[in-house]
Amino acid sequence: MKINYQMKLDKIINDIKNEEYVPTLLLHSCCGPCSSYVLEYLSEYFSITVFYYNPNIYPSNEYWYRVEEQQKIIDLTSAKNSINLITGKYDVERFYNMTKGMEDMSEGGHRCHLCYEMRLREAAKIAQKENFDYFTTTLTISPHKNSQVLNRIGEKVAKEFGVNHLPSDFKKNNGYKRSVEITREAGLYRQDYCGCEYSKREAEIRKIKSEKKKLREDMKELSKTISLEYMMESDKAITDKILNSQEYKKAKNIFCYIGDYPEINTRLFIEKAIEDGKKISVPLCIDNSNMKAYRINSLNDLKEGKFGIPEPDPEISKEVLKSEIDLIIVPCCTVDSSGNRLGFGKGYYDRFMDEYTGNKLLPIRKKQMVDKVPIEEHDHKIKLIITE
Ligand code: SF4
Repeated sequence: MKINYQMKLDKIINDIKNEEYVPTLLLHSCCGPCSSYVLEYLSEYFSITVFYYNPNIYPSNEYWYRVEEQQKIIDLTSAKNSINLITGKYDVERFYNMTKGMEDMSEGGHRCHLCYEMRLREAAKIAQKENFDYFTTTLTISPHKNSQVLNRIGEKVAKEFGVNHLPSDFKKNNGYKRSVEITREAGLYRQDYCGCEYSKREAEIRKIKSEKKKLREDMKELSKTISLEYMMESDKAITDKILNSQEYKKAKNIFCYIGDYPEINTRLFIEKAIEDGKKISVPLCIDNSNMKAYRINSLNDLKEGKFGIPEPDPEISKEVLKSEIDLIIVPCCTVDSSGNRLGFGKGYYDRFMDEYTGNKLLPIRKKQMVDKVPIEEHDHKIKLIITE
């Protein structure tokens, strides 16, 4: 059952309000921005010592930058009671030893639970040594962090060290929103990743994915502005160039997508290649992420597929193995001049090109090329781009 930790905190604060004594609180802080709201909120009731202990943070300049920003937030907070800062050891080895083998886990999983525990245990240890009335962490302010887990860990280590854990769910009462406001108003740095090397990588991937999504939308809009006349002319010029390329002339087995406007219309090319005696295969999507190549002898061998896209009929067509193919005509949403390709988001072609060693050729209209395509590790680069 979910526990309302904000309610528990409210109760403790109400008790404090009825006393004259100002209790001391050791507040573990992951960074200045997350602590901003917590300090504004709790400094009315507690005398706070901020404990910046985060050996997980990568790289080291980010760690020291966050320390500076932490001090700035403390200086900016108009507090009723005192606020001090102590920094723990930047014990990077401890973090890496603890998370060995968990490098590829997603944020929020077991690796993170260990990371929370490492920091909360250190806070409980200091709280015991320095006789603090309570200890807690700013981590519960994050919408990405599970407050139930964090409070359970806090209670566990509190028991071990015989200290009081202050329950919290700082994201409640718009705590996270307020922290964003405070840091924005003060013009302070707010990082876009949790802290460790792995979360930095995850954040970079998230950013690339969202840039790709935006670029796909932009390309869709752009295609609406391209005239049919230009599309037909450029298709003809591109088809001629492919047919005159060395890669085409050498190829015996060609795998080609069935493209329709605003993509390059590959039907012209396919008909000519069949006439030239080339063996042509086209894609059949077999599930949500994989496709296979099937030989066709004519465009009439195609039937209407799932989403209205023509596809081969496995009843009459024969599968062609990837190893038999010596040229792939690759479709794209857009590409840059370095060959970085943006597909349509399902990854069919990137997966198909894994372990493929033959030639690859990508036809595209000049107007549909862009300066830079954001790429991820698994994206295949295409060296040969053919435009009109
Ligand atoms: S993602 Fe955050 S909580 Fe998880 S291991 Fe990395 S730094 Fe720690």
